[in-house]
Amino acid sequence: MKRYALITGGSRGIGRAIAIELAKDGCAILLNYKSNHAEAEETKRLIEAAGGEAELMPFDVSQPDAINAALDNWFAAHPDEYIDVLVNNAGIVDDEIMLLMEPEQWHRVVDVNLNGFFYCTRRVIEGMVFNHHGRIVNISSISGQTGFPGMVNYAAAKSALIGVTKALATELAPKHITVNAVAPGMIQTDMARQSAEYMPEHLKDINSIPMRRLGKPEEVAYLVSFLCSNRADYISGQIIGINGAAF
Ligand code: NAP
Repeated sequence: MKRYALITGGSRGIGRAIAIELAKDGCAILLNYKSNHAEAEETKRLIEAAGGEAELMPFDVSQPDAINAALDNWFAAHPDEYIDVLVNNAGIVDDEIMLLMEPEQWHRVVDVNLNGFFYCTRRVIEGMVFNHHGRIVNISSISGQTGFPGMVNYAAAKSALIGVTKALATELAPKHITVNAVAPGMIQTDMARQSAEYMPEHLKDINSIPMRRLGKPEEVAYLVSFLCSNRADYISGQIIGINGAAF
């Protein structure tokens, strides 16, 4: 039986690296993204070049109707299959100091980073529960573990992902479904470049990271790959940082 892995936000950055790594592990990839078709096609090409398989599944993770429509189609086309791996990776930042933050900025960031987790996971775990196996990895952030200025909305969503990981892990453990979170520090992607615009100078200083460098998307992907493997059967409800000893 094929092992299917749904990666949200898989067109670029960390999600792309995770999709490629899980494809190398033998998973058939369902590659979600919001709107960047060109980057998603490029990820698919990279997966296929590495001998893997991927299909594109665009939807906005903050829109439950869009998620359900995409997954309804997929399940109708694959009546005997289920999604064994779910990586809730899609995320955005919309940084602003609290004094100036508009309600829309708060809601948009919470909708994508946190509510997206709920909508996608709620839909996908049915198959895992029925099949008594599954892997869920939530991509949290160092911002959910410690505070950065201008990121109150993002910290709210990413710290909530830590709580939901622990709670859901206890619910799903009897069904042999593990739920873990990965909390990256600064990783070289479009998002890090976007966030850096708002960061105070001392936080932008590479010397503030004990390893004196940003992380690479591939380094996050290796960790996710391990958590999704059979070797991680007894690891659940954990929050694993990957941040060059920054926290
Ligand atoms: P990125 O390079 O900006 O890529 C974001 C990805 O999320 C893209 O694939 C994007 O799709 C997708 N996306 C955005 N909004 C979406 C939505 N509403 N529905 C579906 N997909 C959506 O970001 P990244 O740096 O790789 O970040 C990946 C995850 O790691 C995020 O959860 C982020 O919070 C977390 N993280 C990142 C860092 C870092 O330093 N980079 C640190 C800690 C945690 P499109 O291409 O279609 O826009």
